Amino acid sequence: MTTPIQERYADAVMNTFGPPALALVRGKGAHVWDADGKEYVDLLAGIAVNALGHAHPALVEAVTAQLSTLGHVSNFFATEPQVSLAERLLSLLGWNDGRVFFSNSGAEANEAALKLTRRTGRTRIVAAEGSFHGRTMGALALTSKAAYREPFEPLPGDVTFVPYDDLAALAAAVDETVAAVVLEPIQGEAGVVVPSAGYLAGAQQVARDHGALFWLDEVQTGIGRTGAWFAHQLAEGVDPDVVTLAKGLGGGIPIGATIARGAAATLLQPGNHGTTFGGNPVAAAAALAVLDTIVSDDLLAATVERGDQMASLLAQQAGVVEVTGAGLMRGAELDGPYAVQAVAAAREAGFILNATGPTRLRFVPPLVITTDDLDALGVALPAILDLARSTAQETQP
Ligand SMILES: *Cc1c(COP(=O)(O)O)cnc(C)c1O
Repeated sequence: MTTPIQERYADAVMNTFGPPALALVRGKGAHVWDADGKEYVDLLAGIAVNALGHAHPALVEAVTAQLSTLGHVSNFFATEPQVSLAERLLSLLGWNDGRVFFSNSGAEANEAALKLTRRTGRTRIVAAEGSFHGRTMGALALTSKAAYREPFEPLPGDVTFVPYDDLAALAAAVDETVAAVVLEPIQGEAGVVVPSAGYLAGAQQVARDHGALFWLDEVQTGIGRTGAWFAHQLAEGVDPDVVTLAKGLGGGIPIGATIARGAAATLLQPGNHGTTFGGNPVAAAAALAVLDTIVSDDLLAATVERGDQMASLLAQQAGVVEVTGAGLMRGAELDGPYAVQAVAAAREAGFILNATGPTRLRFVPPLVITTDDLDALGVALPAILDLARSTAQETQP
């Protein structure tokens, strides 16, 4: 149904995303309401962003208190929330020789990391097929999808793509000209693709053997999403040189972080990079509230438990042939190309979810989602998938 807001959208907002499916007006916890007052369980969380759900009191209070005290000062000045957040992130990584650069998004976090790799004196980057690192020109250069890249070529840099989860292919591509190997520990936009045990540690070894930096893009996987603070902490023996974060970090307030350690931490020198907004006290206070609440409400354990519940209810569905992922980041592979129809049927039934491809659904709910909400999903899914399957068959030529 077209609402007045959606009509105004079409006449005022650039059409980069296609027509929005809904106009949303309000949220609470893992629930959102549209302009007609219809309620939905939000299994997308603003694309793996709203870790604490919607309108979480701790986030509202932190942002309100900081904004009423000191909202923005630029990076000519230090603020306590920014420094505290940097310290907290370094301690969560266990890095005592690390440094953080704050920005406003995942793409920006990756742009900063890409510039940092240039200061090694090397220019080649090895990235993975299926990767997604953002839409700005540098981040796009690291992103493999042809449909995203081709309209904007030439893209900066010398990037070699290798198949994901193929250590031999990676080893063959990395030599002494490579500045960094960049990987997602679980590929998000590709549909929640989990590499084999040992792949990340092996990739790290390949990078180190050739003096290249090992850079993990944890923009989607970081900050509790997989049930660990960082997805790479789920794997044995993985400790990257560079980590990029955004999405869940601010719980919905835009913030990105580029974190490097050891020699990589000092590659960017005064004048090499900058940002007006990055790490402003409001965004930093929001991120601190997210981190505090994950600890105080034991959300890592909750993410593991709810994640197991969600994975098993997905695996029980007729038509779901594979469930991937960890914690509350899960992909469901369908037995046919009806994922887009499933998203529409789910919306009708009061569930917001997302398809990463014609046969693949992605589930990335808030970390505060309840067992009741997941039970409701389990009850509704059979009819959603049935309807989607028959709609897809009817519309086939
Ligand atoms: C979403 C995402 C990005 C881009 O983040 P933006 O905030 O949209 O710029 C980069 N890397 C990964 C792994 C992502 O999932």
